[in-house]
Amino acid sequence: MAKGRDKHKAKKDAVNALGRGLNRRAKSHCELCAESTSLKVVEVEGSPFEEPDEQWALMICDRCEGLMNGKDEPANTLRFLETAVWSEVQPVQVQAVRLIKLVDASWAQDCAESLYLDPEIEALV
Ligand SMILES: [Zn+2]
Repeated sequence: MAKGRDKHKAKKDAVNALGRGLNRRAKSHCELCAESTSLKVVEVEGSPFEEPDEQWALMICDRCEGLMNGKDEPANTLRFLETAVWSEVQPVQVQAVRLIKLVDASWAQDCAESLYLDPEIEALV
């Protein structure tokens, strides 16, 4: 038991340790919606890396973390995803594309359809 918990903690510490670099990249704003309060570091699901890596993690706000965990938000408050899907930061783009595909609104469908993704990114989302 203790071992599993240690492992979990070590992983969490490693994710948190990315905060410094991510903070610089994110300029202290949520990388999805640009909110600047209650920011935290989260890993995007399906990391190709063995250890937590900046290239597969995001600095995001509470609300966006909720979204990533499947929480429903009114579609009209999620228009920031239209910008985020064009991000040049790979984990931001991957997560935004995943989220926008879940939004039940015509603007979200239009955006997802008009999006051109690198085949490399397409394979990840
Ligand atoms: Zn956010």
